[in-house]
Amino acid sequence: MHELAADYDELRSDVKESQDKSLEALRSANTPDARSVVLELDEADNVDGVNLPGDFIAEELVVQVIPQASDEFTCYSCFLVRHRSQLAREKNGHAYCVECEG
Ligand SMILES: [Zn+2]
Repeated sequence: MHELAADYDELRSDVKESQDKSLEALRSANTPDARSVVLELDEADNVDGVNLPGDFIAEELVVQVIPQASDEFTCYSCFLVRHRSQLAREKNGHAYCVECEG
């Protein structure tokens, strides 16, 4: 029971710390309506569910796009390199695989 409580407190203090940093940044930026800005940021986080680092996602896409043979295409929906036989649709220059169109 004690351990669980300790973990919970630790987690909460981490969250609080990051929130405090955001608030500090907003205050130092002299935002006229800091409270509404904070609410908007919180809502944006909730939409994504978790705070995924955007840089990491971009890197993955680049790595998967580069190795592409002439008989392959990159699905614009799942961003996987597929063989031509799996091409289901091409629209506006973007190809979509059978799994995404299925
Ligand atoms: Zn796909």
